[in-house]
This record gives sequence, C-alpha cells and structure tokens, in this order.
Amino acid sequence: MFGIVRQAFSEFLCGRWERHQERDASGNRTEMLPLGNHENEWLTHWDVLSVAGDSPSIAREGFASVSSYLEKDGIWCQPVAGGAGADLGGSRPALFLDRDGVIVEDVGYLHRPDDVRLVPGAAEVIAAVNRIGVPVVTVTNQSGIGRGQYGWAEFAETEARIAADLAARGAHLDMVVACPFHAEGIPPYAHPAHPCRKPRPGMILRAGVRLGLDLTRSWIVGDRASDLAAGGAAGLAGGLHVLTGHGQKDRQEVHGMATEKFQVRLADSVVSAMDIIPQLASLA
Ligand SMILES: [Mg+2]
Repeated sequence: MFGIVRQAFSEFLCGRWERHQERDASGNRTEMLPLGNHENEWLTHWDVLSVAGDSPSIAREGFASVSSYLEKDGIWCQPVAGGAGADLGGSRPALFLDRDGVIVEDVGYLHRPDDVRLVPGAAEVIAAVNRIGVPVVTVTNQSGIGRGQYGWAEFAETEARIAADLAARGAHLDMVVACPFHAEGIPPYAHPAHPCRKPRPGMILRAGVRLGLDLTRSWIVGDRASDLAAGGAAGLAGGLHVLTGHGQKDRQEVHGMATEKFQVRLADSVVSAMDIIPQLASLA
C-alpha cells in the first residue's frame, strides 16, 4: 500500500505535498492522497495519509466514505451512481451546468461545505430534468485546486454537501467533472491552456464519451462567457446565460456568441432552464 501511495505522491502530487510539508512545523503531516488499487488505477477512495517523520501510515478517517474519481490526467470525473448516467450506451442529450454562480452562489473559490448556498430554483430545475431522464452534468473549473488554495478532499466534501442539498429537494447530478489546471497553477497543475479548462471543451467532451451523449442536442447553462464558449466549442445545441454569479459582467460578451449551430439564450437565473426542458424531452 505504501508503494502505491509513494507512486501517487511522486507522479502526481509532489508539488502540493512539498507545500504542505513546508507549511507544517509540527513534524506530523497529514495530507489527502488518492490511493490506487494497482499501479495505474486512479479511480479510488479518499484516505488520509498521516506521516510522522519517515514512517508513513494510512489512517482511514473522516473521508473514507467519500468516493473520488480523480483520473490519471488530473481531471475529476465522477459519475453518480443511480443517476441517469448509470445507463450507458445511449445517445441522449444532456444538460450541462456550470457550478459556481449557476447551481450554487459564487462565493469565490468555494471549498467549505458550510458555504454552499443553492441558487433559488436550481434544485427544482435539476429535478425536472431528472424526471425526463436527461443526464445533468456539472462542468466546473477548479483553479483553486491548481493554485494550491484547497485540495480534492475539500472539493469532494463540498460536492457531497451540494448533492445532499439537491437530494433534499428531490434532485441529483448525474456526473461532476472538474478541471484544476490553470496558467498560474502550481505543478502539476500549471498549464497555459489546458484542453479541459473552460472556455475549452474538454470536460464536456469527456462527459459526452463517458455517458454516451449526443452533444449536438445538449445545452449548457453558465454565468460566464467562457461557459458558453466551451459549449459552442463542444458542438452543443445552445447555451443559456444567467445573471447570477458573474453573469452581469459577462452579459455583453455573450451577446455575440450565437452562431448558426449554437443558440444563445439570455435569462436571469438557471430557473429559465425550465424553458429548455421541452426541447430536451422531445429529443430524449
Ligand atoms: Mg460560474
């Protein structure tokens, strides 16, 4: 087990690990690491690795029940069991949602569960899309992880709170995809223009493959112009721009983003995605 941890450490999290070592003066260091089932397996569970001096030990505490889906290339891709995403192989549309400023209020680098506040109406829209059997997929840039401001453990905890808050209102997400890479990231997350970071389409394309989606019939809801740009680049049918989050600032930029193949709709909040549901349902 230790060998696997060491591999994860050396190949993937060395930059972050060194940061934490420097930060902690006690000599007892605790860090969250993804533990593989074998050398190249990265779809795992979160465990706590406690290190005292040169004697690492693995202690399953707290987060052991939090499933993680950190893929080998550093992208989080989490299909949610029991959701429509479990039914692979079809060719269905999906509703893609940005997270911060669309599903939850954008508090800036959200990483504490207690800071989660659902945008009013978001759960009801997601539940309505759930009911017609169309997958709902979160695609979220997480440069806070890339910058070393928080880690995947905090991300997982925050997602768990969002899932719980949605579940309390009868709604669920079918997949969560997150990209930590950023031009100002700390290695291994430094990348000048990662193909998964919106406005690039990588997260949407990955979900499309994983869930067997027809992207040309799918939509995205976002508060940033980059959300819609990612949707356009992925070949989606359209994007709904909302004024929550950073929406006011980006509204002007969004005006010019419609093309023959990519519709742009303007709305106040994700609640207006209700208007897209008949279109998704008729094609599902
Ligand atoms: Mg946003």
